[in-house]
Amino acid sequence: IAEIYATLKSVKSVEGRLIEIDACIGIAQYPKDDTDFDELMHCADEAMREAKHKGKNTYVIYTDELHAQHLDQITMTNQLRRAVEKDELSMMYQPVYSLHNGQMASMEALIRWHPYGKAAISPDLFIPLAETAGLISDLEWWVFETVFKQVIAWRPMRSRNIPIAINLSSKGISDEEFIQNLIGLMEKVGIMPGEIEIEITETSLIEQPESAMKNLHLLRQQGIKILLDDFGKGYSSLTYLVSLPIDAIKIDKGFTQKIHSSQDIDAIIKGIIDLAHSIHLKVIAEGIEAENQKEFLKALGTDYGQGYLLHYPSSPVDLEKELK
Ligand code: C2E
Ligand code: CA
Ligand code: CA
Repeated sequence: IAEIYATLKSVKSVEGRLIEIDACIGIAQYPKDDTDFDELMHCADEAMREAKHKGKNTYVIYTDELHAQHLDQITMTNQLRRAVEKDELSMMYQPVYSLHNGQMASMEALIRWHPYGKAAISPDLFIPLAETAGLISDLEWWVFETVFKQVIAWRPMRSRNIPIAINLSSKGISDEEFIQNLIGLMEKVGIMPGEIEIEITETSLIEQPESAMKNLHLLRQQGIKILLDDFGKGYSSLTYLVSLPIDAIKIDKGFTQKIHSSQDIDAIIKGIIDLAHSIHLKVIAEGIEAENQKEFLKALGTDYGQGYLLHYPSSPVDLEKELK
């Protein structure tokens, strides 16, 4: 393996152009894994896919476990394909509070999947699966339709506007037709732009930056606020941040949970908040689980907070009592 990487590294240019070669390698073994050439290649392919998943310049050796995992994913994808029609999806809502006055400021819509007869599956697992299986657009369309119905149902119960933030995948934010249809749907069912917000992540903007950027502008022109989710988790380039058409950042829960773990972490969090404010972005901290985290964020001027300490994601029925 080391030799293969060394050989690839030694290639410095092709037709006069400077290049750098990374490789993800999948390994299958003859005759252990299979004796048929095509099948053996298939095993190597599965191992390679796993290597790609792990990151650049990694290799993975094919195992039966990997095979079982692959079969599980196929089964899960087939079940997910039918989740909408089988009525297995639902939405939970988690309130976000102003850290200045303690009032509920908005809610985040979070999808749930309860496959019939099985334990619930986390969106962290099935959203990526839906993305690779090409199911994400249908799923996200269902999310928007469901949230819009909820917005309308809640209107008579609330005395002021409480926007609902909806997570949008990289496919969704890059798909112009999807965004146009979305704006069309809002007009058709009568959703005001201030009644919803869109959450996107930095990584979702990287895949197709041009169309993503165009769509962000389109949504903002409509008056819809854009929140940059999971800030601090990815590259989080501060220069890049300045150029983005967004209204707020959500500090990643990983960061919130490290508050007071070192002076450096605390300084970085303060830096992020100050910088965001200096370019007129609001700051939401997610994943607040402890009182001292909340107090620290509040003292630094964080605008909004979300987390188990303040409110768990809850069903519409449970939230209605509070809205009333
Ligand atoms: P996210 O957008 O970062 O959502 C926040 C996650 O943190 C949620 O997990 C929420 O339940 C959880 N959370 C809230 N407060 C706390 C806390 O105090 N501590 C901890 N440890 N966690 C907290 P959930 O609901 O499992 O969602 C996971 C991810 O799945 C979301 O991360 C989002 O990326 C994705 N997702 C959820 N719903 C949708 C959806 O409708 N569409 C799309 N595209 N993605 C979704
Ligand atoms: Ca989110
Ligand atoms: Ca987040």
